[in-house]
Amino acid sequence: MATLDGFIKYSRQSAKAESPNDRISHFNEFYTPYTEQTLTQQTARCMDCGVPFCHYKCPLENNIPDFNQAAHEGRWEDAYTILTKTNPFPEFTGRICPAPCEQGCVLGINSEAVTIEEIEKTIAEKAFELSYVKAKKPTKYNGKKIAIIGSGPAGLSAAHYLNQAGYTITVYEKDKKLGGLLRYGIPDFKLEKKYIERRIQILIKEGIHFITETEVGKDIEFDMLEKNYDAIILAIGAQKPRSYDIESKNIIGVHYAMEYLTQANRIVSKEQKLSKINVKGKHVVVIGGGDTGSDCIGTANREGALSITQLDYHNKPPLIRSEKTPWPMDAVVYQESTSHQEGCNRIFKSFATHLNTEKNQLVSISISEVEIKNDVNGTKTKQKIPNTSRTIPCDILFIAIGFTGPKIHPSLKKIDFKRVSFNSKEYVTNDSKYYLLGDARIGQSLVVNALAEGRNIVNEIDRKLNLDRADL
Ligand code: FAD
Repeated sequence: MATLDGFIKYSRQSAKAESPNDRISHFNEFYTPYTEQTLTQQTARCMDCGVPFCHYKCPLENNIPDFNQAAHEGRWEDAYTILTKTNPFPEFTGRICPAPCEQGCVLGINSEAVTIEEIEKTIAEKAFELSYVKAKKPTKYNGKKIAIIGSGPAGLSAAHYLNQAGYTITVYEKDKKLGGLLRYGIPDFKLEKKYIERRIQILIKEGIHFITETEVGKDIEFDMLEKNYDAIILAIGAQKPRSYDIESKNIIGVHYAMEYLTQANRIVSKEQKLSKINVKGKHVVVIGGGDTGSDCIGTANREGALSITQLDYHNKPPLIRSEKTPWPMDAVVYQESTSHQEGCNRIFKSFATHLNTEKNQLVSISISEVEIKNDVNGTKTKQKIPNTSRTIPCDILFIAIGFTGPKIHPSLKKIDFKRVSFNSKEYVTNDSKYYLLGDARIGQSLVVNALAEGRNIVNEIDRKLNLDRADL
C-alpha cells in the first residue's frame, strides 16, 4: 500500500483544467499534468483493497493497485511495465476512458474515487519522456499471415498483440490516416492526434505493415485477401448511424453527428480546408445524450455557435452512486462531460416532433416532453406528454442517437454479423477465415473494450490456426 493513511489525509484532486471560457478558444487538450507532489498524494489515496474492484471493473483487467504503488515510489519503468502487461496503449485510455475502474473504486463508496485515469496518463507520458517505450520486434515469425481491416483502436490493438505473437500483419484502412474513431470521431480537445502518430510510428518499427486509402471490397477484393492470408479480421467499426423517426429528407441543416465531427477533425489536422457544415453564429441543436452528442457540443462551442441545445430522452441522470446500487461492482456514476461545462442548454425527457423550415432551410424545431414506458416484452416506447409542446430556434441539427452496426460491403453478405456481448470469447464467424473484432462484433462501445478485444482475440486465432505459443 502506498501509505497507510493517504486516503484519510488527502482528498481527490483532478488534473487542473483550463477554464471553459479559455479552452473553447482552441482545440487542444486543456489539462495541466500533475505536479510531482500532487501525483505522490493522489497515488497515496489507493487503499490497496484486499479485493481490488477497480481491477475487476476494468475491461482490460489492469493491475491498478500495483502500477499505482510503482508510480507512488517514482518507479516509472516498473509502473509502465505493469500497466502495459494488460493495456497496449495507456496514453489513449488515460485520456478518454470513462474509467469504469474509478466507478469500482471502494474508496468511492463514502469518499471520492482514486484518480486512476490521470495516474495512468501520467505513467504513460513519463514512460515516453524517459524513453522507456521502445519498439519491440517479435523474436520469431510463425509463417502465418493475417489481414486486419480497419485501423481503429480494435484493429491497432490486435495488430500489436498478433505481431508480438509472431504473426505477419497487414492492416488495411480506407481513410487517409490511421486511427479510426480515435482520429476522425474523437476531437483533439479529448485526444490530440500527435499521440496516435507517436504510437503508430512504434507499431511500424515493430514490423506491422499499414496500407491506407484502401477500402477492402472497393479498392481491393475480399477474394484477394482470402487467397493471400490465413485469417481476415474485420475490425471495421459500427459506424452506421441510427436514423431519427422524423421527416427530414432534403432539409438543409440536418446532419448526422459523424459528418460534422469528421469534418472538424479533418480541418483541425489540416487534412481539409473548407467546411461544408458551418455552425458559426448559428443556433445548433444536438439530439442524443452520449459521447458523440457531447463531442458535437464541444466542437460547436469552439467553432462559435450562437446557441447549443441538447435534447435527451432520458431523465436527468444522478451525478453520484445510486442509493440502490452503491456497491463497487454495480455502481454507475454519471458525470457531466467537459463539453457540457463549456455551455449548452440541456433539455431532458424531450424529443423533436417536427422540423420547421423556410425555403427548405431548417429554422426551428418543435419539441415535446416524453415519458419512456417499458411494455410487457421489455421494449421501450416513448409517449408524448400532452400540452408540453414548444418550439426552439435551430439552424443546424445534429443527430447523435447511436449507431446500428457496421457498414457491410455486399461481398460480405455470406458473413453472419451477429452482435455478441463483450464477454463472449467467440471472435470467429460462420466463415472460418473471417473474425469480427471491436465495435463490429459488440456494437458501439468504448476504446477500452476495443483494446481488450484486440488482446483477447490472440488466443482464439492461435487455437483456430492450430498454433501453440510454445512453437514460437
Ligand atoms: P472504429 O474506431 O470505428 O474503426 C473502424 C475502422 O475501420 C475505421 O478506421 C474505418 O475507416 C475502417 N474501415 C471500415 N470498413 C473498411 C474497409 N472496408 N476497408 C478498410 N477500412 C475499413 N470511447 C471511449 O472510450 N471514450 C470516448 O471518449 C469516446 N468518444 C467517442 C466519440 C465519438 C464521436 C464516437 C463516435 C465514439 C466514441 N467512443 C469513445 C467510442 C470509441 O471510439 C469506439 O468504441 C472505438 O473507436 C471502436 O473501435 P473499433 O476499432 O472497433 O472501430
